[in-house]
Amino acid sequence: MSSVASRSSARRTPWRTISTAFAQWFDSDYTSDGPEKMRQEPDRVDVVRCLPFIFLHLGCLGVIWTGVSSFAVWTAVALYFVRMFFVTGIYHRYFSHKTYSTSRFGQFLLAVFGGTTVQRGALWWAYHHRHHHQHSDEAEDAHSPHVHGFLWSHIGWITSRRNFPTDYSKVKDLAKFPELVFLNRFDLLVPLLFAAGIYGLGALLATFAPGLHTNGLQLLVWGFFISTTALFHGTACINSMAHLMGRRRFKTTDDSRNSFILAIITLGEGWHNNHHRYQSATRNGFYWWEMDITYYVLKALASVGFIWGLKAVPSSVLNEGEEADHRASILAAQRAALAHPEFSAFKKVVPAAAAIALATVQASSVQVPKRPERAALHRDVTERTHDIDPQA
Ligand SMILES: [Zn+2]
Ligand SMILES: [Zn+2]
Repeated sequence: MSSVASRSSARRTPWRTISTAFAQWFDSDYTSDGPEKMRQEPDRVDVVRCLPFIFLHLGCLGVIWTGVSSFAVWTAVALYFVRMFFVTGIYHRYFSHKTYSTSRFGQFLLAVFGGTTVQRGALWWAYHHRHHHQHSDEAEDAHSPHVHGFLWSHIGWITSRRNFPTDYSKVKDLAKFPELVFLNRFDLLVPLLFAAGIYGLGALLATFAPGLHTNGLQLLVWGFFISTTALFHGTACINSMAHLMGRRRFKTTDDSRNSFILAIITLGEGWHNNHHRYQSATRNGFYWWEMDITYYVLKALASVGFIWGLKAVPSSVLNEGEEADHRASILAAQRAALAHPEFSAFKKVVPAAAAIALATVQASSVQVPKRPERAALHRDVTERTHDIDPQA
């Protein structure tokens, strides 16, 4: 396989490489040698192909010229979280795993909303993600921090030439819809329209609401460039950090982990070990205490009938998780007792305190005989004065 790849690379002239990469900016399905050959190449950064991605990061520096307004900052924050939901609730839980259903038009809308995240097309995203689940933390995994290192798993893999084509044979269930293939092929279309919309909104507000102190360029820098760059890195944390940071509840074959911090940044995707254990469920936070905002929003969308057929976590998996947590808590207590002997002495006090508390509770229910009237120990001072004999 590697000799085929090297012969193919040797034949390719620099001009051909550059022109192919340039054509792929506009038509991501275009290849000069065929997608299969491209996928067999060794990993290497394709700078020309990545220029739009580099431009996205450099666009954040535009803030030096456009300045800041509270409206622009709040727009950036809102667009981060709304589009994080698009990544997690749409690209991940719908297109990659099909954890719920919707109508064909609903599916088209989901693909358009997903396109605003600037994370390429829904089919490209789903293909790579399904591949990740198949080969998680193995040599084949395109973004395993254990195989390729942190930086490559976070950002490097997305710049590699071999990871650009979509393997439509691995997403046949989605590739049968031409409207989805169209949006996937011309994946720059929705982001460009989205950016133009943000610029237009800023320009309108500059004219009709000057009190907001924003304008087209400022809103473009904050609402598109900064918000989208943050959104990319927030999402990429799942590929890199979620296989390094946090607790492992389930003994999966990979090194996926559960992290509350990552669950906040990514609206619920931080429960990544849960997800690797059972990827068909709509929720990633399996228990009520595992906050999963994406799931709550999907429940709300189901209640208004836009989506339906949300898939639950099987009770056998929930029981398995509870047992694993129970074992982990006992192990942690044993380790704590070994590490801190004084903790063991303290434990002797606890049962005694519990016994006293229990006895007190029972005592309160005992019927105490009522004291007779005027039998108070401390009578009123005026009453006491009557007791004193003035002749004495
Ligand atoms: Zn993973
Ligand atoms: Zn997944």
